[in-house]
Amino acid sequence: MSSEPTSPRVVSRSHELQSALKGLRRSGQTIGFVPTMGALHEGHLSLVRAARRECDTVVVSIYVNPTQFGRGEDFDRYPRNLEADMRLLSDVGVDWVFAPTDAEMYPEGFDTWVQPGRIAERWENEFRPGHFRGVATVVLKLFCMVGPDRAYFGEKDYQQLLVIRRMVEDFNLPITICACPTVREPDGLAMSSRNAYLSPEHRRQARVLSQSIFDAAERVASGERSPDNLVAAMRKIIAEASDAVIDYAAVVDPNTLEPVSAVTGPVQALLAVRIGGVRLIDNLRLTPPSG
Ligand code: AMP
Repeated sequence: MSSEPTSPRVVSRSHELQSALKGLRRSGQTIGFVPTMGALHEGHLSLVRAARRECDTVVVSIYVNPTQFGRGEDFDRYPRNLEADMRLLSDVGVDWVFAPTDAEMYPEGFDTWVQPGRIAERWENEFRPGHFRGVATVVLKLFCMVGPDRAYFGEKDYQQLLVIRRMVEDFNLPITICACPTVREPDGLAMSSRNAYLSPEHRRQARVLSQSIFDAAERVASGERSPDNLVAAMRKIIAEASDAVIDYAAVVDPNTLEPVSAVTGPVQALLAVRIGGVRLIDNLRLTPPSG
């Protein structure tokens, strides 16, 4: 298994990528794949490092997928910086970067979509209708182009991770989905390309997201069993930020994402909060004391 940093080869055409990877696959190399929208940070790089450790060939895609953005969302102003991304990926040692154009991904006449089911119905979908349809469609297309053995996703986007796992299971895709823990700034804020939109004041206020879910984890560890009490405590902490508007704050079953009526085992705290108009999400597993 190679661990020497290399300069990634960049391709924008899927047929180029497919023919390059075909030979490697035939020679028995395992392929690790990390799909991203670029504007890379340590969160993305942790996925790439995991792929580098576990696979012979590492492919990273950089594509800001228009079909997962709703009308009025930040597609146009989403940060794009391929040069900076390439520098970061060179340092980690990536073999291939796939950076397709919209015409490559959605050519004239494109008309087939993946419609995720129940797991995609609540939470994000209530505020971003159609988002997971766009995500699942582009990820399936990327999987078909790359043909990875293993694909890496962040727990940061927890509902997305479950949507992808469901799709892989339902379509019998021969791909292992590897989940990587959320990477945080020193003050706890989950790293996100969208953090760059925050003004210094809103960046300071954004700490309430992680503070509220870490507080919930402590409450559960010390015996709190009521999801209502947990959500109320989360909301109270978030309300300390004067410009925070909560889209949702919930305590749910970690597999179905349905709200739980009592904390009798591990649960997931889910959050989406807008701070000064910047929409941030976070989540954390809350584990009650055993016995
Ligand atoms: P994105 O570029 O936002 O589409 O993210 C690409 C991948 O990186 C997704 O699987 C995300 O869940 C993952 N990711 C984003 N931020 C983080 C983070 N702070 N920690 C771990 N993974 C992350």
